[in-house]
Amino acid sequence: MGKRVCIVGAGFSGAVIARELAERGIPSVMLEERSTVGGNCHTERCEQTGVMRHVYGPHIFHTDKEEVWQYVNRFAQMMPYVYRVKAVHADQVYSFPINLHTINQFFGKAMRPEEALDYIQSLAIKGEMEPENFEEQAHAMIGSELYEAFLEGYTRKQWGRSPAELPASILKRLPLRFTYEDNYFNHPYQAIPKEGYTALIENILDHELIQLKLNVVFDLDRGDWAHVFYTGPLDRYFNYQFGRLGYRSLEFVDEVHPGDYQGNVVINYSDQEVPYTRTLEHKHFAYWEQHEATLVTREYPKQCQDGDTPYYPIRLVSDKVLLQHYQEAAQVISDCVTFAGRLGTYRYLDMDQTIAEALKIGRNWTRD
Ligand code: UDP
Repeated sequence: MGKRVCIVGAGFSGAVIARELAERGIPSVMLEERSTVGGNCHTERCEQTGVMRHVYGPHIFHTDKEEVWQYVNRFAQMMPYVYRVKAVHADQVYSFPINLHTINQFFGKAMRPEEALDYIQSLAIKGEMEPENFEEQAHAMIGSELYEAFLEGYTRKQWGRSPAELPASILKRLPLRFTYEDNYFNHPYQAIPKEGYTALIENILDHELIQLKLNVVFDLDRGDWAHVFYTGPLDRYFNYQFGRLGYRSLEFVDEVHPGDYQGNVVINYSDQEVPYTRTLEHKHFAYWEQHEATLVTREYPKQCQDGDTPYYPIRLVSDKVLLQHYQEAAQVISDCVTFAGRLGTYRYLDMDQTIAEALKIGRNWTRD
């Protein structure tokens, strides 16, 4: 038998690559250092309440990519789900992401769409140049008052830095609407897998040509592989030789309550004085299930240190310089190693983008 292909990490990226290779008759060994598959999409039943828990924070599948939508539907029953969030600012509850309702609530008015648009445009602070960071982007879109109420405090907590240091692209994730539509996403397909993400990924991995090994840490010096597909942190692969890329980590604190705790799946806490960013009441995701008790998780962002799980690539200017060094190093070994996914490419990717890229990688790879 010739050398085998190794896939490091059993999140969406690794699983989809493994499956695509397997369907082309290429066997692989998948190494996952955790005891579960699913990466940071992992879901499991809470023993105390029976509720399906999004272990590493809320995950809502949304896409405008027909192929990706068809793909996930092959492996799971996807339940339609529209993600609606509320934001608490100064002890008041607001509609979110910022829409006509938020604007009217915040300014105590009853404006129609065009009136609100004119009003917000009159508040927008636009410089001569294109906005270069999160703060400038927000000022240009909505002015200072809404920015300070709903974005500034949350963003400082989430990223541990001034929004003036952060890329404008982070803000572009959020819609701004002049209607009462409060759907968090604009994509046509939005859903939650009925049995959770872990079951979905287990189904992707359920192929005779995929050999899954849990609780195994990938060791560069061990194993003689035909090729490695690596979905762990890019800087870690290179033993941090150029320095550490900045990631944000999270701490999750669980509580169990009777009944319905907050009446919604997620509530964002916009103010900096509240130490957590959001509270997640997991059972509201699974509207087709009944549970008496409820599991609530508070999310506390923190600096990512040794031993912490990296979640969000920060991508400061200094990170981008480092990233370039790592990308060059990755290019040198690209015949032997392919880097994929949020951690492997150090990008703030959503699940559907990850799947689309993994499909391409798995389909195009050939043995030399
Ligand atoms: N954000 C904010 N206030 C909120 C929600 C989001 O300022 O109430 C900003 C914050 O900087 C966050 C970014 O918008 O990191 C993207 O939000 P998203 O909900 O996409 O974050 P995720 O769910 O990926 O953590």
